[in-house]
Amino acid sequence: MKTQFQQILDQIHPEVDIKKLEKTATRAQNAYRKVTNGYSIDAESLCKKSLIENNERKSIVIASNIFFISMCEHHLMPFFGTCHIAYEANKYIIGLSKITAIVEAYAHRLQLQEKLTQEIAACLFNHLQPFGVGVYMQADHCCLKLTHTEAHSTQLTTLFGLGSLQKSHELSLILQNKDIKHEHTNLVTQ
Ligand SMILES: [Zn+2]
Repeated sequence: MKTQFQQILDQIHPEVDIKKLEKTATRAQNAYRKVTNGYSIDAESLCKKSLIENNERKSIVIASNIFFISMCEHHLMPFFGTCHIAYEANKYIIGLSKITAIVEAYAHRLQLQEKLTQEIAACLFNHLQPFGVGVYMQADHCCLKLTHTEAHSTQLTTLFGLGSLQKSHELSLILQNKDIKHEHTNLVTQ
């Protein structure tokens, strides 16, 4: 990858002094490796082995304000923002640190935000077996900001729910309370 970055530097403009940037290709390679290291993490296994038995049936669990950074597969540029996850627990719950690790495992790949949102929701739904799960992501996309300066404040929001949280208006209502409490707080017990 280092050689390819050197070739990119070569192509940018004749005024670019490649000799002064001799470490840039290595740094760029390391940065791209870091933001695509999610391919080496088996998020499904991570989720499966992190399950905790739930003694409080039907509680709503919300993990909010999870920072994520990913790489747009259309432009190879970063997009970053916050992720909020709600699930209606059934047999299992999962630790907050494991949720953030699962988000990172999927985010640190070449992604589309829409696909990323769905992959996180599907992983949690398949293994936690909750009554429902919903994922809400809001992000700034560098590709848009660089190419459309008038869109500097534009963000993309994606919302995806499964099971009892499949309907987006129900999910939105729950996530409106996301700033109240964070890890494993029972907002609804029934
Ligand atoms: Zn893009």
